[in-house]
Amino acid sequence: MRVCILGGGTAGWMTAAALSKKLKNVVKSIALVESEAIGTIGVGEATLPHIRFFNEGLGIDEAAFMQETNATFKLGIEFCDWGAIGDRYVHPFGDFGQTINDLAFYQHLLKLRKQGDYGVLNDYAFGIVAAKNDKFQFPHQGKTDLQRAFGYAYQFDAGLYAKFLRRFCETNGVRRIEGKVVDTLLDSGSGNVTSITLDDGQQIYADIFIDCSGFRGVLIEQALKSGYQDWSKWLPCNRAVAVPCERNGDLSPYTRATARKAGWQWRIPLQHRTGNGLVYWDEFMSDDEASSVLLNNLDGPALDEPKQLFFKTGRRNHFWKNNVVAIGLAGGFLEPLESTSIHLIQEGITNLLELFPHDTNSELDSAEYNSRMALQFERVRDFLLLHYVATKRDDSEMWRYFSNMTLPDSLQEKIDMWLHRGYVQRYQFGAFLPPSWVAVMMGQNLLPKHYDPRVDNSNFEQVKHQSQVMRADIAAGVSSAKTQADFLSAMGAASNAEILRAK
Ligand SMILES: Cc1cc2nc3c(=O)[nH]c(=O)nc-3n(C[C@H](O)[C@H](O)[C@H](O)COP(=O)(O)OP(=O)(O)OC[C@H]3O[C@@H](n4cnc5c(N)ncnc54)[C@H](O)[C@@H]3O)c2cc1C
Repeated sequence: MRVCILGGGTAGWMTAAALSKKLKNVVKSIALVESEAIGTIGVGEATLPHIRFFNEGLGIDEAAFMQETNATFKLGIEFCDWGAIGDRYVHPFGDFGQTINDLAFYQHLLKLRKQGDYGVLNDYAFGIVAAKNDKFQFPHQGKTDLQRAFGYAYQFDAGLYAKFLRRFCETNGVRRIEGKVVDTLLDSGSGNVTSITLDDGQQIYADIFIDCSGFRGVLIEQALKSGYQDWSKWLPCNRAVAVPCERNGDLSPYTRATARKAGWQWRIPLQHRTGNGLVYWDEFMSDDEASSVLLNNLDGPALDEPKQLFFKTGRRNHFWKNNVVAIGLAGGFLEPLESTSIHLIQEGITNLLELFPHDTNSELDSAEYNSRMALQFERVRDFLLLHYVATKRDDSEMWRYFSNMTLPDSLQEKIDMWLHRGYVQRYQFGAFLPPSWVAVMMGQNLLPKHYDPRVDNSNFEQVKHQSQVMRADIAAGVSSAKTQADFLSAMGAASNAEILRAK
């Protein structure tokens, strides 16, 4: 099989890297076409922990990768002003506290919180307490189970990550071709793409094409007319303005998402700068207002002109159609509130590897691929929407829009079950496990009417004592951990030790 990947953004180079490593003896050749004149989207800096397994699968050295991409560790996302103005909580990567009598700790906390000062859920996660103290250590360095019970991801410069992967790919035999696709040739019988034509007249033939051309969807949409499911009625934010600024203060190992009147603002600290952006709904905020809200809420001086981006939330009807598989923005887009896009690229790649076809007759493979990816997208959509509807906010037109919304059945059922008895339904495909749902629902004060009745089986005095021991255990672990800046320097991941110091 000859593979042609169209696009050299994060999606294109991640796909090329994985295919060149994992299908070395399966594919005959891999070509990647990209156009410097068109460029990449230039955002996408925060990730989920799964990316570590992607890098590990390629045999990438963590310290070298972090140094070359100016990466920092990410222990979660801090959400400010979401449940109500003034509220803040962190959604970490991992669970909270320890199971007591076979019941998740949050169930006990639902009872404890009525009885005195037992803190909030966030006090029972090592990752969160470390994050809020700008500390970091690897999970395996924890001395107790609680100090090991967390995951981590990265925040990095996406442009540098693509360059890093490009070097990896070129040493693994991927042929990069510069040029702009101006035409696509379809087979009149099968409807498959047989070749693409570049602006210099070159024609590239392949058996399977991976469309990583970004929002344009050059092959999946422009050529094959897959069609798009528009989810704007649930996630109506449709614009963003982004700008990097100088870093200020200690290097925090977490992303921040602050709710605004018609959207929300992100803050992503990297080693050499802080990435910022405002995602908003143009119905209730003008581009000028968005830029001014963003520029007035930076840690330090802006390092560039604000960059404007436009998008429509949703997904292609078919991610895989004929012999074209769309990965990345070409397949669909959900706003970056939980840093899920790069994760969905990774899911697309993993599923493609598992279902890589024997020949161009791939209807069974594509059907399975499409149903898996559709579930992934829908479940991320529901999780994102949860942040907008689990709130008491009604202080602007956008928040009032959400309070009157009819939710997708899948989300409504999940919320109903939670409110009824504090239970979170589990499923096989989907990025977010029950602790993530609990983090957001409790963090935004969406509390169940009843805790699990089995909570009352436990000796309450013992539970109170255990909860105090847990908090002390976490505090002790965090106090002996290094600051993230010292940790990066010690592991050889700092691109420049000087820039890590607090400013
Ligand atoms: C506001 C915003 C914030 C985001 N933040 C995050 C985040 O924090 N975390 C996260 O995981 N994701 C985030 N994302 C998503 C993330 O940016 C993308 O998933 C990621 O960058 C992958 O993009 P891509 O490679 O699919 O497309 P692009 O980066 O747009 O790359 C497309 C490629 O196709 C090429 N191309 C297009 N047309 C042609 C043509 N005709 N001929 C030749 N080449 C062509 C281009 O030159 C380019 O190389 C964010 C997105 C937005 C809009």
